[in-house]
Amino acid sequence: MAKNLQSVRGMRDILPEQSSSWQFIENIARELFNSYGYKELRTPIIESTELFKRSIGDATDIVEKEMYTFEDRNGDSLTLRPEGTAGCVRAGMQHGLFHNQQQRIWYIGPMFRHERPQKGRYRGFYQAGIETYGIEGPEIDAEVIAIAARFWKKLGFKNVRLEINSLGSNEARQAYRDVLIKYFSKHEELLDEDSKRRLHKNPLRILDTKNPKMKDLVSNAPDLLDYLDDESKEHFEGLKQRLDGMGIAYQVNSRLVRGIDYYNRTVFEWITEELGAQGTICAGGRYDGLVKQLGGRATPACGFGIGIDRLQLLVEEQGLDQSNNNPHAYFVLSGKEAELAGLTIAEGLRDTHEQFRLLVNGGSGSFKSQLKRADNSGAEYAFILGENEVTDKTITIKPLRNKQKEQQTIAQADLDEYISNNLL
Ligand code: ATP
Ligand code: MG
Repeated sequence: MAKNLQSVRGMRDILPEQSSSWQFIENIARELFNSYGYKELRTPIIESTELFKRSIGDATDIVEKEMYTFEDRNGDSLTLRPEGTAGCVRAGMQHGLFHNQQQRIWYIGPMFRHERPQKGRYRGFYQAGIETYGIEGPEIDAEVIAIAARFWKKLGFKNVRLEINSLGSNEARQAYRDVLIKYFSKHEELLDEDSKRRLHKNPLRILDTKNPKMKDLVSNAPDLLDYLDDESKEHFEGLKQRLDGMGIAYQVNSRLVRGIDYYNRTVFEWITEELGAQGTICAGGRYDGLVKQLGGRATPACGFGIGIDRLQLLVEEQGLDQSNNNPHAYFVLSGKEAELAGLTIAEGLRDTHEQFRLLVNGGSGSFKSQLKRADNSGAEYAFILGENEVTDKTITIKPLRNKQKEQQTIAQADLDEYISNNLL
C-alpha cells in the first residue's frame, strides 16, 4: 500500500478480531461506574489549547512536548485532548454543574499525546476515568480508590499494587518546593539535563525521575511528608483508615508526585509488574484548586484516569476475556426462494430471541462455499434452508463444532423452541 495510506505513527487500528477484549473491559467499566451512582459525561475530543495550558500546567511533559496542537481555519489554536479532566471541568463550569452540587462523573474515550510509541505507550490511546466534584472529605478519595480496586477484581487482575501519597496544601507544597530547589541546587552536578531544566520550573518532578544514576540523590532528598500541613495530614490519615477498613492494601510512597500540576493532597497510582516499563494502569488524586484556577468557584475534586490500552494488553496476555461474540448460527440459504424466505424467518427469530446471534449468508454462493463461510464465522451451527426445506416448511440444523451431535431436520414451527432449548 502507498506509504501515505498507512495509519499515523503511534495511532492504532483495533481490528474486528481484537475488539471483543476492548468491549469486555469497557462494558465492565460502564456497569461498575454506574453501579456507584456515577453518570457519563461526553465532552468533545478537541478543546481550545488555552484550556490544557491553564489546567495541566506549562512545565509538564504534556504541555511542553506532547500535545497535538493546530490552528483551525479561523486561526484559533485547538488541541486534541491529552487527558479527560480538563474537559470535564470546562463542561461542568459551562453548564453550571458545580454550584452547590455534588457530581460523580465518568468518561471513556480516545486521548492523544505525541510520545515515543512503545509497548503500552501510544500517541492515540484510550482512557476511562471518574471525576467527583463538591466532596471534600477523605471518604471520596477512598471511594474512588475502591472503584479501581473493584475494577481489577472484575477483570480478574492479580498483583496490582496501590501506591499513595499526599502532596499537601498548595502552601505546603510551595514550602517543600523551595526546600527541594535548595537541596538539588547544592548537588546540581549530579542532575541530568531533564532535571536541570525542571529544577526551577517543577522540582517535584525530579523525584519522579527514571534515571538510575540519580537514585541516591533522590532517595536522600527531604521527605515531602515532613512538610505536610496539619489538615492534609489529617486527611491522609482519614484515607488510610478507610482503606484499611475496606481491606485495600497500599504502600505509602513519598516520592510519588504525578506529572500533572493540578494535583494537591492525595495522589495515587495502581501499578502492575506484568507489563514491563509501562506498568502504571491507573493514576489519580485530588485537584481541589482546578475549578477555581480555570475561573470557577472553589470546588473540591477527586478522580482517576485508567489506561485502557494497558488493561487490554493484560487481558489479552492472560486470556481473561472469556466472552464469546461468535454467532450462534449461520444461515445457509440455497436457491432463490430460500434467499427470500430466509430473511423473513431470520427477522422473526430476532424478534423472539434478543440474545440470539445469527449471521445470514450474503452474496449467494454455492451450498459448499456457504458452509465454508459458516465454519469460518465461528458459528456453533449452520441453519440450512434449501429448496426441499422451503417446500416442506422445515429447516436443517447442522452442528459445526460438536462432532457428537447429529444433523437434523425440524419443522420451521419448532425452531423457536429448538433455539431456546439448545442454543441460548
Ligand atoms: P506515564 O508516566 O506512563 O507517562 P502519565 O503520568 O503520563 O503516565 P496520566 O496522565 O496520569 O499518565 O494518565 C493516566 C493513565 O493513562 C496512565 O497511568 C496510563 O495507564 C495511561 N496512559 C498515559 N499515557 C499513555 C499513552 N501514551 N499510551 C497509553 N496509555 C497511556
Ligand atoms: Mg506521560
